[in-house]
Amino acid sequence: EPIVVAKNLSKSYTKGLRALDNVSLTVNQGKVLVVMGPSGSGKSTLIRTFNGLETFDRGELNILGIKIDSTHDERKIQKIRRRVGMVFQQFNLFPHLSILENITLAPVHVQKRRQAEAEEYGMYLLNQMGIDSHAKKYPSQLSGGEQQRVAIARALALKPELLLFDEPTSALDPERINEVLDAMRKLARQGMTMVVVTHEIGFAKDVSDQVLFMDSGKVIETSPPNIFFSNA
Ligand code: ADP
Ligand code: ADP
Repeated sequence: EPIVVAKNLSKSYTKGLRALDNVSLTVNQGKVLVVMGPSGSGKSTLIRTFNGLETFDRGELNILGIKIDSTHDERKIQKIRRRVGMVFQQFNLFPHLSILENITLAPVHVQKRRQAEAEEYGMYLLNQMGIDSHAKKYPSQLSGGEQQRVAIARALALKPELLLFDEPTSALDPERINEVLDAMRKLARQGMTMVVVTHEIGFAKDVSDQVLFMDSGKVIETSPPNIFFSNA
């Protein structure tokens, strides 16, 4: 059953230049779509439409069975946002909160879960990400790779049905990239549905079910990784 269906999405920020030009795609449950392409090709704009961070001018999106179009119905967008997690290039952690507090904040204050329950699940997620020993520390005391794994745990704490990643390793030192990619591999193996904008070819080859290549807002190619990388 499809989690994301995009039909003929188009968007222009300014007249003339199309950030998205008639983009269509499907992501089924438990699958990983990797989105590649040069800088400025529309990758970030595309995945940001999936949780309503960007509007679009034409076409239709169906996210988790909720349909949105260019009218950008705020009520529907809010419903989608509750069920879709996102991880950005910059980790965007709250600097004045501990690692565990970063993770329990939204579950407790937005989802109204009990503090003890949120903390227990938060510790489970930190353990999954291999960073439970840092629970009481503050973001500035962690490496970039560790901070990004906190950001992933924070997204997971809301039990998302779809996880979006916008260049999650682009801000990391090279030697820290793999620890984040390994955490993402683990999520993929556990059956998480993921859309990942990345330049990491190794990750795309090993983990993705489908690779989508964009240029100038258009889908140039979409195929499974064994085919995508065989004629490159
Ligand atoms: P990518 O993620 O592939 O680097 P983007 O989606 O960020 O591409 O950008 C696609 C195009 O839209 C680029 O030409 C970019 O300059 C333009 N663009 C992105 N965001 C904005 C914005 N907020 N205002 C105007 N133009 C934008
Ligand atoms: P990325 O390529 O990683 O998506 P960018 O450096 O293109 O990041 O964009 C960083 C921020 O600037 C984003 O919020 C994007 O929407 C915005 N942006 C990108 N291009 C433009 C543009 N031409 N005009 C205004 N804002 C832009």
